[in-house]
Amino acid sequence: MTEMTQEWSELHGEFTDQRRARRTQVHIADVGVGDQEEFFYVDLPGWTSDKVIRLRKADLGPELAKKLKVDARWHARVNIGAEDSWELYFRDWEPCERCQPERFGKDGEHD
Ligand SMILES: [Zn+2]
Repeated sequence: MTEMTQEWSELHGEFTDQRRARRTQVHIADVGVGDQEEFFYVDLPGWTSDKVIRLRKADLGPELAKKLKVDARWHARVNIGAEDSWELYFRDWEPCERCQPERFGKDGEHD
């Protein structure tokens, strides 16, 4: 698929599986300090890999970035069908007080 047809499909709501965003649990694996200050690190319990992914705090905006805590669990919409971490994108970030590692259904809701 060319870049153009891909954009066309997305405009018309026809996301490919690799790119479709689903609400999922995000584990905040680490929050950068010092010369890593601009980054935070996550893994995705619902993803095919337990690889840790480095993201920029700037992508959250200042209000949410202040709420980052190591080992917290958040929600985001993620294209969880992606095979490589560079293909992943995140949106609609939401800190969650109720998340437990083993209690987040495949449908993106709590038990
Ligand atoms: Zn939750």
